[in-house]
Amino acid sequence: MEEHTNKPLSQERVLAEQLRVSQRQLPAAIWVGLILAFAITWLFYAALPGILVFGWLAAVVMISLLRLFSVQYIATDQFTPADAGKYALRYTITAFLLGSTWASLAFLLPYMGTEERIIIFVLLISIAGGALTTTAAHVMSYYAYAYPILIAYATHAFLLQERIWVTLGILTLVYGVYMTIAGWKLYTSLQESILLRYGWQETADKLNVVKGELNEELASRKRTEKQLTAVMQDLEKAVSHLEQLAAIDELTGIPNRRSFDAAIAREWNRARRDKMNIALLMIDVDHFKSYNDIYHHQEGDTALKQVATTLSRFAKRPGDIAARYGGEEFALILANPTTDYVTQLAEELRQTINALEIAHSGSTTSEFLTVSIGTSICHVPENDDYSVLIREADQALYEAKHAGRNQVKISVAC
Ligand code: GH3
Ligand code: MG
Ligand code: MG
Repeated sequence: MEEHTNKPLSQERVLAEQLRVSQRQLPAAIWVGLILAFAITWLFYAALPGILVFGWLAAVVMISLLRLFSVQYIATDQFTPADAGKYALRYTITAFLLGSTWASLAFLLPYMGTEERIIIFVLLISIAGGALTTTAAHVMSYYAYAYPILIAYATHAFLLQERIWVTLGILTLVYGVYMTIAGWKLYTSLQESILLRYGWQETADKLNVVKGELNEELASRKRTEKQLTAVMQDLEKAVSHLEQLAAIDELTGIPNRRSFDAAIAREWNRARRDKMNIALLMIDVDHFKSYNDIYHHQEGDTALKQVATTLSRFAKRPGDIAARYGGEEFALILANPTTDYVTQLAEELRQTINALEIAHSGSTTSEFLTVSIGTSICHVPENDDYSVLIREADQALYEAKHAGRNQVKISVAC
């Protein structure tokens, strides 16, 4: 309990709840009190001075209504813990006023006969006791209400100085002590149950807040994950695009030298492993320098593109790769060909380029653009040195050039 009571907000909330519990029973208690007051008036108005009896009744009615209306706000939804202190004071003061009004009945004791005194005694004792259940939720109000009644009655009983009344006075005080303890116990146990409830409620509230935060966090993580996945996909696309760019010759759109270097090594090893042939065609455009000189560089580019497009159609089978080797030089790797197939294909390629009929007035070989092709073939590579294939193709190309260009030369590398 200690750890709760030193939290000011909790204290106010508890007090507010105590007032609410207590106030809920107030209207019924007030009406019962008023009925009792009218009954007493009816009982005594003939025997006692009217001014006293009616004056007293008027006081009870007025203070009852004052009590009822001055704390009515507690029962409304607008009542908050911030109002608790103010209304606790009102609640206590009006309890004291009403208790005192009832206590003032004790002043009438000397005017009464024994029977009436006993009625009044029973009545006041039950009023003081009955209030326990209705006001003990806010114990200060209970004490403020019950003490004036009990003390006034005990005092007047002693003042009567009769043995029986003194005894009743002592019993009243004992009863008062008992009610004090009972009131306190009721009050503390109710307070504990309220604290317990608020403790649970606070824990539940905190859990809800944490749950909300976790959900929020989870959602934001999912969002981030989604964004990350999207970014990753974009990146992958960009990377594969870049890889493609890095592998493709910008001018002709066919694989570039980098791709060729990787492909020749790969295909050579494959041929070696699978015991297959491999062939390489080196294709060089004839008199291309003069083509550029006559038709200018841009036309030269167009002619190179036409050659590249034609060449790529000759990479017909899986493992065949056409590439731009550099400048006006191209390469074609053939996977597992026979010597005849290589010779035929190279010749066919040469003729197809001729058939493009790209006019070349600067050529001493033909009126059209021509190519020379050096070819090398290896019948099942035995080691990993594929440079021999390139060397031999180069050599064959050199021979084709020297033999007058626009022709195919073939060399067996291994
Ligand atoms: P050969 O018949 O002996 O092969 O003579 P060639 O003139 O073709 O050979 P050379 O090596 O002397 O000249 C090659 C020319 O190819 C020179 C260069 O300007 C041209 N060339 C290289 N790359 C490109 C290119 O991307 N575009 C254009 N338009 N020309 C290029
Ligand atoms: Mg060249
Ligand atoms: Mg050339």
